[in-house]
Amino acid sequence: AVLSRIDSVEETIKAYVTVTRQEALAKAAQIDAKRLNGEKLGPLAGIPVALKDNMCTNGILTTCSSKMLHNFLPPYDATVTELLQDAGTVLVGKTNMDEFAMGSSTENSAFFTTRNPWDVKRVPGGSSGGSAAAVAAGEATFSLGSDTGGSIRQPAAYCGVVGMKPTYGRVSRYGVVAFASSLDQVGPVTKDVKDCALVMNAIAKYDPRDTTSADVPTPDYTQGLDGNVKGMKIGVPKEYFVEEIDPGIKDTVRKAIDVLVSLGAEAEEISLPHTHYGIPAYYLIAPAEASSNLARFDGVQYGFRAEGADSLIEMYKKTRSEGFGSEVKRRIMLGTYSLSSGYYDDYYLKAQKVRTLIKQDFDEAFKKYDVIITPTTPNTAFVSGTVEDLLSMYLNDICTIGVNMSGLPALSVPCGFAEGLPVGMQFIGKAFDEATILKAAYAYE
Ligand code: GLN
Repeated sequence: AVLSRIDSVEETIKAYVTVTRQEALAKAAQIDAKRLNGEKLGPLAGIPVALKDNMCTNGILTTCSSKMLHNFLPPYDATVTELLQDAGTVLVGKTNMDEFAMGSSTENSAFFTTRNPWDVKRVPGGSSGGSAAAVAAGEATFSLGSDTGGSIRQPAAYCGVVGMKPTYGRVSRYGVVAFASSLDQVGPVTKDVKDCALVMNAIAKYDPRDTTSADVPTPDYTQGLDGNVKGMKIGVPKEYFVEEIDPGIKDTVRKAIDVLVSLGAEAEEISLPHTHYGIPAYYLIAPAEASSNLARFDGVQYGFRAEGADSLIEMYKKTRSEGFGSEVKRRIMLGTYSLSSGYYDDYYLKAQKVRTLIKQDFDEAFKKYDVIITPTTPNTAFVSGTVEDLLSMYLNDICTIGVNMSGLPALSVPCGFAEGLPVGMQFIGKAFDEATILKAAYAYE
């Protein structure tokens, strides 16, 4: 059914870089044979899944939507790929994204732009735009995205689906092409909160192959989904309801918070005073880490190699000039600059200090509150091609970045519409307390 849905809508939505039709049919048949044999099946047996194209899949194209990796066939699976296989899922394809996960609209893909299923003139958000559009359009039952500054939650909000960034260290990054290693985290994009909990059960696991993976126990995330939020303390930070946020978004989210209050939760206005330093600090730290991570793409080991160079250095230069798109190059240059001697202290080090202040705001708030609720995005999905200046695109991450800077888990849930387009409400939790935000979001939903 999912493959025939892909046949009928993919030409319009363009969520996929690769559709793994043959592999999917073979895997489904295999699982069915097991079922008929009475063998034990995994908890997600037969469920069609799509993976963002920055997650390695053995022998299946993994492009990061970049010319640099247009022909890259990984020789191994990412841990998340493996875990989903173990759970019995059927991979139906790899989804389009902003090149190397840099962007908020999927317009930075080197291949094509994905469209928002609610209005195909509009972007699906990014960078996991293909993953969100695929789920929203019924082209996958769920998908995985990666979130460095909002790339799961923002497209989930724009496409009217559920998206969660787990706590940093909760889900393995092994085999996921790195953008900014201290911020990147993989998470589910699903149709509802219960599916999100089920997928978390499959992918949240300590992994010795990722040195930042946290060796902490993982609960059964479906356990707390009982609709009971009586006495739950919700902090509502005033810095997320400022002028930059569209009135339609603020109204919709406030009404959604009222629903939780009517269920017995207690909501209070709080302050996270360093919120507005999030974007400038993020746009130093993320490019700095990216400039280091992307140094490996030099035409020798992976993917694309430019023709016609007559020395090794020339080959590096030509490969990187031709292989990377302009946003990726901009980030590499910004990052290299802020890490260089003489500028390091002024930019990178200062940004890291600001990062600590942002985290301390959250630590302070979580002494008193169980969850923090904000809008996921400052606006609804915009029309493709209309955000031309970079700063406006960067400002789009205003509601999501603090969470990555602090390593916290956060979940975006559809909470209504503004001018006919989906609005997302963001639930932010304490580190490793995904269970509480799932519980609250489930009660709301
Ligand atoms: N929009 C942000 C950026 O461009 C976040 C991207 C992400 O989370 N991968 O960096």
